[in-house]
Amino acid sequence: MNKYADLHIHTNASDGEFSPKEVVKMYKQHGFSAISITDHDTLEGLPEAISAGKIYDIEIISGVEISTVWENEEIHILGYFINANNQTLQSKLTEMKNARKMRIKKMVARLNELGYQITWQEVVKIAGQGAIGRPHLARVLLEKGYIETIKEAFHKLLGWGCPAFIPRYKINPQEAILIIKEAKGIPIVAHPGINLEDNLLKLLIEWGIEGIEVWHPEHSEKTSEKYFKFAKDNNLLITGGSDWHGNNKDSNFSLGSIKLDYIYIEKLKNHKEQILDP
Ligand code: AMP
Ligand code: ZN
Ligand code: FE
Ligand code: FE
Repeated sequence: MNKYADLHIHTNASDGEFSPKEVVKMYKQHGFSAISITDHDTLEGLPEAISAGKIYDIEIISGVEISTVWENEEIHILGYFINANNQTLQSKLTEMKNARKMRIKKMVARLNELGYQITWQEVVKIAGQGAIGRPHLARVLLEKGYIETIKEAFHKLLGWGCPAFIPRYKINPQEAILIIKEAKGIPIVAHPGINLEDNLLKLLIEWGIEGIEVWHPEHSEKTSEKYFKFAKDNNLLITGGSDWHGNNKDSNFSLGSIKLDYIYIEKLKNHKEQILDP
């Protein structure tokens, strides 16, 4: 088989289960030639992943998945081959990390009002130093027996419009695209098949998006075909990834479920060399 990659993976630097080093080791064992660590709104897992890549001999592509909102729709923007030392990107992500903390603190208070006895310290114990998010809150609720699955926590309490839901800090997609480009990264729209209307995809192109995540576990074969054609017709780059978060039993996503042909990595690299970093 040809060389293959997975360009969408979370670690415990955000809401994934395993450390960057553990993730890198597991992907090597599964025969991957390259992976990208794309934690939510943080680059903090990258240095450990890059060192582990040297130890286990697997190529690590610097990545991030920025959570943006446009007219009440969540849009996730992936950035690849980013310069993690870029000041603009770093300060924006620090701001977002602090905002995540404030948001989850408010959600804990809301849950307390609703009668769920959980504390901020319990959430921090699960989240560690990384970017904190609703999945950490869900895990505390699970451990304390308030719910039976992570999904249930989202459906009953933490999802949009649910009693403990508080909107996230709002950065719009245009801004995310700009800061990724400023850090010499390639902005790609993540899993458009989950919730993105085609009109919005056209707007994203106007705003400077350079590619589409065509293969994702939430995309049916038909959906992936549609976006593959769309990408070709609009001269956009093509990526894919498993969005793996760990072995959480009610997650639909599994390690390396997407094997992206290495040819697409070459195309990203050419783009980076010719357009972003000439
Ligand atoms: P946050 O960034 O704190 O708003 O949390 C969003 C993250 O929660 C997503 O990236 C997923 O990892 C997870 N998530 C969102 N909706 C669900 C759901 N219905 N069931 C399980 N996990 C979810
Ligand atoms: Zn996540
Ligand atoms: Fe996402
Ligand atoms: Fe993701």
